[in-house]
Amino acid sequence: MTAFYSPTETESALLRRCVDLAAEALDDGDEPFGSLIADAEGTVLFEDRNRVKDGDATRHPEFEIARWAAENLTPEQRATAVTFTSGEHCPMCSAAHAWVGLGRIVYATGTVQLVGWLAEWGVPSGPVSPLPINAVAPGIEVAGPVAEFADEVKALHARMRGL
Ligand code: ZN
Repeated sequence: MTAFYSPTETESALLRRCVDLAAEALDDGDEPFGSLIADAEGTVLFEDRNRVKDGDATRHPEFEIARWAAENLTPEQRATAVTFTSGEHCPMCSAAHAWVGLGRIVYATGTVQLVGWLAEWGVPSGPVSPLPINAVAPGIEVAGPVAEFADEVKALHARMRGL
């Protein structure tokens, strides 16, 4: 059983934007993931979506956020900023997030859910272990998944695979 997180109205709206970015990525031939970073008041500072279709499989939005934050935010701003994402960070992005000192993460759907969907569809596992954020970065406060986005995000991943 998945234990779902109940987001605030602001958090829900920011996650909505992430899922829309994920759909935009899929429409453009990339994988359905979208993310953004907001300051402590909920103002969006930077957003991006997956861009792997041209051959660089590290072009995850959460990785771009970590790099953007390292260049543009002070350590204090990074620590209090909140990252929102349509799908929980992979180990690469969790590590980048922690290395640059970013704060809390709120995700719409979790790695455990994605792994379950891929198993359901008989999709072979990828080259990186599907570890949850806290297995890679134990000091990061995380919240998710959020029930209202599960079916929609699952449908994006199904569509990506022609299902
Ligand atoms: Zn990633």
